[in-house]
Amino acid sequence: MTPELPGYAHEYSGKVRDLYAPLDDAGNLLYDQLLLVASDRLSAYDFVLDTPIPDKGAVLTQMSLWWFDQLADIVPNHVISVDVPAAVAGRAVVVERLDMLPVECVARAYLTGGGLSEYRANGSVSGVALPEGLVDGSRLPEPIFTPSTKAPMGQHDEPIPYEGVVAEIGPALAERVRDLTVEILARGNEIAAERGILLADTKVEFGLRGLELGQDEDVRVAIRERGADCEIVLADEVLTPDSSRFWPADGWEPGRQQPSFDKQFVRDWLTSPASGWDKASGDEPPALPVEVVDATRAKYVEAYERITGQTFA
Ligand code: ATP
Ligand code: MG
Repeated sequence: MTPELPGYAHEYSGKVRDLYAPLDDAGNLLYDQLLLVASDRLSAYDFVLDTPIPDKGAVLTQMSLWWFDQLADIVPNHVISVDVPAAVAGRAVVVERLDMLPVECVARAYLTGGGLSEYRANGSVSGVALPEGLVDGSRLPEPIFTPSTKAPMGQHDEPIPYEGVVAEIGPALAERVRDLTVEILARGNEIAAERGILLADTKVEFGLRGLELGQDEDVRVAIRERGADCEIVLADEVLTPDSSRFWPADGWEPGRQQPSFDKQFVRDWLTSPASGWDKASGDEPPALPVEVVDATRAKYVEAYERITGQTFA
C-alpha cells in the first residue's frame, strides 16, 4: 500500500521504502530529488511480512537522521530536508537523487548470522581470512568489510570478495567505500558503547553525486569509467535496527546467539514451532501475533531512545 501524495509521483517501492519524485508547480518531475518514505513494513528472510510494525518507519527515519549528523565529518549524506507532506510526517525525508553503487557495503565488528555460516564453511567471510576458534558473537580482531551483491527484490544478497567490488565499481571507488563502511561502523560503535549497545554489523548504501549520466548510457559502465571522479554520498538508511545488529552490551556472551534490539525477535518467532512456518518451504510467512508485533515495536523504540537519548514521540 503506497500512499498517494499530492505533489509527488510514486516511482519505486523497495521492501521497506517508497520512493517518490517531487513535482513542480507545472507538474513536471524534479529529477534531482526524491522523497524517501519509510513504511512500517518489516522484511525477514527475504519476505516482506504481511503484518506491519506500528511506528517502525518513523523510528528508522528519525534514527537515520540522527546518525547522519553524527557521521557528517566522515561522509556527506543525501538529506535535503524533512519538510514533507503531513501524511508521511516523521517517516519521510527529501533527499538528493544519487546514482547508487550496485553493491551492498557490509562491515562486521562481531561474527554472527550469514558471516558466521560462511566462516564455519571456509574460515573466511567475503574472502577475508579470520583466525581459528571464533564462535557466534565473537568480537573480530578488527572490523572487516564483507560486501555482497545487491540482489533484485525477493532474491538473496550473495557475499562477494573485495575483488568482486573492484570488478563492479573500479579500484578507486572500491577502496573508498570499503574504508568508509568500516569507519562508519567504528564511529557507530564508539557512540553506541557509551549507551551500552554493541553494533555487531551493518549494511550501508552509497551513491554518487555528479555522475551526469547520458541519455542511453549504462549506469554500471558510467560508474566504472567516471565514478572515481564523483563524490561519494551516504544514502538510504544508516545504523538502524533494520540495517544493523544491535546487541545490549551487558548481555554479550560469545558462544551463543546474542539478545538483540533488531528483528531477530521476529526471525526467532518465525522459525519457532509457534509460527507453524517452514523456512525451507518457500511459502509466505504467516501473520505475526499481536504480542510479537508489540514486542518488536518496543525493541525498535528502545533502540532509538537508547542510542539518541531522546524520547520517541
Ligand atoms: P531494494 O531496493 O533492492 O528492494 P531494499 O528493499 O532494501 O532494497 P528499500 O530500503 O525498501 O530497499 O528502498 C530504498 C531504495 O531506495 C533502495 O533501492 C535504495 O538503493 C534507494 N535509495 C536510497 N537512497 C537513495 C538516493 N539518495 N538516491 C537514489 N536511490 C536511493
Ligand atoms: Mg534498504
